Amino acid sequence: MADSIAVLGTGIMGAPIARNLARRGFDVRAWNRTRAKAEPLADDGVRVASSPADAARGADFVLTMLGDGKAVESTMTTASGALPAMGENAIWLQCATVGIDATNRLAEIALKAGVAFVDAPVLGTKKPAEDAKLTVLASGPAELEQRCRPVFDAIAQKVAWLGDAGAGTRLKLVMNSWVLAVTAGVAEALALAEGLGLDPALFLATLAGAQMDTPYAHIKGEAILKRDFTTSFPAAGAAKDSALIVAAAQSCGVSADVAKAVRDKFERAVSEGHGDDDMAAAYLVTAPL
Ligand code: NAP
Repeated sequence: MADSIAVLGTGIMGAPIARNLARRGFDVRAWNRTRAKAEPLADDGVRVASSPADAARGADFVLTMLGDGKAVESTMTTASGALPAMGENAIWLQCATVGIDATNRLAEIALKAGVAFVDAPVLGTKKPAEDAKLTVLASGPAELEQRCRPVFDAIAQKVAWLGDAGAGTRLKLVMNSWVLAVTAGVAEALALAEGLGLDPALFLATLAGAQMDTPYAHIKGEAILKRDFTTSFPAAGAAKDSALIVAAAQSCGVSADVAKAVRDKFERAVSEGHGDDDMAAAYLVTAPL
């Protein structure tokens, strides 16, 4: 019989994850707070559940892909939450980006409930999620790795198993500190070129193939040049993650001056109404007046 998995949260990332698991033959049940967003998944053979508990009952795995730590905690722990419905051998795969404190808290909640917990945030945005080409940064009890493999292989092209739960989240914050700084940096470089009276396309053309080049700069840079802020990763998510990065840096005495500036820029993007736009909208709060 196919392994069954409950996917809780069918937003930009959760929906393609559920779809790819169904394609790989998993028995997938999905729940989303706004049910209408989960309903199209029925066409892919996913059962749309009426509550997190309904999705989790009898499932071998529960995968959380919700906005933040609070959303994950409430979805797992309320009366109709997933945790009380999970069976003895079920594994909780926590894939949302929630930061260090929330990960510790969720791991503790799982421990108290007697449920196995794997901290498994992902790298990659909407397109890699659709193409099953995410990178999973997994951490948790080593004996769970083999059982979790088929799930991660269905959604990712690369899976790292990093040790005790929490290591995945720490590496995710490290990776996002770079991605968010690159995005904010590209927005500023293009705005500076414009401000100085240059064709901003010169920035990407000059970067292309140089030692300092990176494909990500072109993805975000081209989007900015086209003023196409279709969301892959929302500016609100970038603001949330950069705040988690600053908190993580503070917890270990690192002077995260760049991360703080990046956080301020994304928070300004959110307060100026661009929270649901892609994080490339950092440009909109940077462009010359
Ligand atoms: P999204 O499209 O905004 O989806 C957020 C999901 O969380 C939706 O299902 C939303 O439900 C749910 N949610 C939010 N608050 C909730 C609450 N209080 N109770 C229950 N459900 C709640 O976001 P996403 O891009 O898929 O991101 C999901 C997670 O993946 C985040 O932690 C994000 O940082 C991480 N991530 C995102 C990317 C990316 O590129 N997008 C990449 C890697 C990791 P509704 O539909 O009802 O609002």
